[in-house]
Amino acid sequence: MNKEMSESDPQPSSQPPELLDRKKRAEKIIGEPGKYKVCEGCESIVVAKATTCPSCHGYRFDESPERVITQAKLLGSRPATTVSWQDYL
Ligand SMILES: [Zn+2]
Repeated sequence: MNKEMSESDPQPSSQPPELLDRKKRAEKIIGEPGKYKVCEGCESIVVAKATTCPSCHGYRFDESPERVITQAKLLGSRPATTVSWQDYL
């Protein structure tokens, strides 16, 4: 019973859903860099209409598309592994 269930479930075990989600978000940001900006305080990507950073409450942003794309690629390729590590420590 369990075997059949796992076989019918096409989930890739190599990539956690969170990483896939991050990749999708990164691709979306890279496709529309004008809708986002990068926080100068914590390097988070926030929507362009945000007035302060939801992470660090900073108000200085880099709105250049190149910076946004660079940061999105970074976030997409570097998933929450560092956070997971800290969870295990
Ligand atoms: Zn910030």
